[in-house]
Amino acid sequence: MGIGWNFDNSYARLPNDFYAEIELNPVRAPKLVKLNKSLAKDLGLDVEELQSDKAIAILAGNTAPEGSKPIAQAYAGHQFGHFTMLGDGRAVLLGEQITPKEERFDIQLKGSGRTPFSRGGDGRAALGPMLREYIISEAMHALGIPTTRSLAVVTTGESIIRETELPGAVLTRVASSHLRVGTFQYAANMGSFENLEVLAHYAIIRHYEFIPNSETRYLRLLEEVIKRQADLIAKWQLVGFIHGVMNTDNMTISGETIDYGPCAFMDTYDPKTVFSSIDRHGRYAYENQPVIGGWNLARFAESLIPLIHEDPEQGIELAQNEISKYMPLYEESYQEGMRSKLGLFNEEEQDKELINELLDLMHKHRADYTNTFRGLTIGDMTDTPLSNKEEFKNWLEKWQARLSRQEQTKDEVRQLMESWNPVVIPRNHRVEEALEAAVNGDYSVMEKLLKVLANPYDYTSELTKEYCSLPAPSNLPYRTFCGT
Ligand code: AMP
Ligand code: MG
Repeated sequence: MGIGWNFDNSYARLPNDFYAEIELNPVRAPKLVKLNKSLAKDLGLDVEELQSDKAIAILAGNTAPEGSKPIAQAYAGHQFGHFTMLGDGRAVLLGEQITPKEERFDIQLKGSGRTPFSRGGDGRAALGPMLREYIISEAMHALGIPTTRSLAVVTTGESIIRETELPGAVLTRVASSHLRVGTFQYAANMGSFENLEVLAHYAIIRHYEFIPNSETRYLRLLEEVIKRQADLIAKWQLVGFIHGVMNTDNMTISGETIDYGPCAFMDTYDPKTVFSSIDRHGRYAYENQPVIGGWNLARFAESLIPLIHEDPEQGIELAQNEISKYMPLYEESYQEGMRSKLGLFNEEEQDKELINELLDLMHKHRADYTNTFRGLTIGDMTDTPLSNKEEFKNWLEKWQARLSRQEQTKDEVRQLMESWNPVVIPRNHRVEEALEAAVNGDYSVMEKLLKVLANPYDYTSELTKEYCSLPAPSNLPYRTFCGT
């Protein structure tokens, strides 16, 4: 039996402005260090065969699998607010795997060497950041947050040069597509109406097939992308996920989270939290993510204007009208999620106030975001700095009174809270510890971490307990790096 590849290459059938065909850049000694067996099965791939030399050569970008047409995608993007021409500088799209359920997923190699879009870069990636993407993307998936996935990591047997010499690696990324806001910006920038329309049509077929074929279909596309992104970013906020580099090239049309570079989960609740070392002005801080989402979507809307209406002024007006719906949609999603985190099934006017009061207390007393909600869920706040605070006791009374005004039982409330408040998240010190061991050849720490992160809402598991604890106090703030 073969590996099970079943490729189509619909993206490569778009006009050739949208990509560059590429030659592969073989590496010296590929070795498989991590394979996502359950994802492999879902994709219709054979787990045993995927560990063969033949498959590893494919996952390293040394040989192309049958049916694949390796390309690098062209795109542009606003990086920290500045427009730039980009494109896959260190990634290769092998093609789209059609699964046994007839679903379509991009199979992309990240860190696979130079492409025509590499600019000054070497096209390569280091092992640590590729494992980091693997861990966090799979944790996000288990949390129920739309995301690209990770199928495998192979080491290359080659070093890459950054500030120091690092072991090289290639990640196999799986995505419902790699269409980005930046892909549309690129198309709009080309100035070809035909190309823009081909791309928008393609995005609809791929992700929004339910949109009927009418004159308003591209406005509908904008509306649907806005809905998915509003919901996605609300989900990030609700678990304390900080993306770290929300450039428009890192925002998908599908509504999946993409590009796990400097991302990290917030520990101590502080709306201003920034982890990324390059985000000096806090553009992508936790509290800014919803607004930046709207800013990026406005860039998407701009690129669609020629398709929305033949009269640009009317096009702008229609697009602005859609954009104005984003914040209310985000708020609705976020508030509903927050009410669920507090076990509230219905909505009362003062709920927002109740939620904000709790967040203010968490901020003031430097409470851990995840553990506070976990404490409220299990009814035990002893591990949190809030437990002995008078103002928190007042808040608890208000919350209890609020809970008693709804008809649901205690069990039902607990169930709802358990399904919205993860026990475990990829805590920064745990991720770092796993990466450090792995880069030194010991993958057991990461394997154990991945096992725990696969069931983030399991309140019964003994295994999760040790993963709730906070790191030893440090004078230095946690910092993340792009890993490029
Ligand atoms: P990112 O910050 O990961 O979204 O990357 C931004 C852009 O830089 C993308 O076009 C990447 O393909 C490109 N890039 C990142 N790292 C490298 C590298 N080592 N070599 C070439 N291009 C890179
Ligand atoms: Mg990117």
